[in-house]
Amino acid sequence: MKEGARKIKKFIIPILMWLIFEGVAVTLWLTKDNAFYLFNFSYIGTSLAVALALYQLHYRHARRVAQFLVGTYILVYLGLICNENMQIEGFWYYLFTGVFEAATIHYAVAKILGPLVFGRGWCGYACWTAMILDLLPYKIPRYPRKKWGWIRYLTFALSLVFVGALFLAHVGNMEKIMFWAFIIGNVAYYAAGIALAFALKDNRAFCKYLCPITVFLKPMSYFSLLRIQCDQSKCVSCGKCKRVCPMNVDMTDNSRRRKNGTECILCFECAKACPKDAL
Ligand code: SF4
Ligand code: SF4
Ligand code: SF4
Repeated sequence: MKEGARKIKKFIIPILMWLIFEGVAVTLWLTKDNAFYLFNFSYIGTSLAVALALYQLHYRHARRVAQFLVGTYILVYLGLICNENMQIEGFWYYLFTGVFEAATIHYAVAKILGPLVFGRGWCGYACWTAMILDLLPYKIPRYPRKKWGWIRYLTFALSLVFVGALFLAHVGNMEKIMFWAFIIGNVAYYAAGIALAFALKDNRAFCKYLCPITVFLKPMSYFSLLRIQCDQSKCVSCGKCKRVCPMNVDMTDNSRRRKNGTECILCFECAKACPKDAL
């Protein structure tokens, strides 16, 4: 009986994740009278729940499963087949047109409100850019972090100015322009991300310095309910956790203001590396 309860407890987080996404799926389906939302959020929630369950079963590529299931779905199905620009330019575009549809809903759930609950889980489990960057050879950064985070504000401003200028100029055929912007934008992101990863020997360099979406993600994830916490009574200060962190987080400090706290992508590499089970 006790063994059964322990097994069920292990799967509480995947079940909760699935229920949260089902809640969003059913609410949007009914309020917007569109079955697409039921399919979309059920698919994403199920993919994440499966990956979290695999993690509980100690499958080492559990996070990669979620990245590929969700990342390819958004990039290939929503982006290339359904012609939805899911990049930040698409968000501005739908926001300016006043349409609360795919890209705006996606940003609201995954990148603006969601991080209040699951921090930067998007970056660890679903982003189609990081899905490729995480395949590169520098999973652990070889050099100390650079103070280049300001570049993200530049790319953020550029995306806003680009879409704003199209609107001000009353350019026609915006849907087609946004589709091509999605393709060109993704090629540019992959090229910049891969070049930076090799130049700085850090797979996640693009995420740390260039990605405009972090302008939303960082402040929201500061308040995240889900966070890596350190049990100080178990910790022996061996530093193994910090050595494997791809985002240079000081996860042994439990305060919200810990070093690079809003960079945590919840990959659990630190927890896996801890010999004392303190994380
Ligand atoms: S920081 Fe940007 S590119 Fe990196 S995983 Fe997050 S959303 Fe994707
Ligand atoms: S290693 Fe730990 S602290 Fe670093 S990003 Fe992953 S979960 Fe967060
Ligand atoms: S790996 Fe574990 S024991 Fe070592 S410093 Fe990190 S939390 Fe403490």
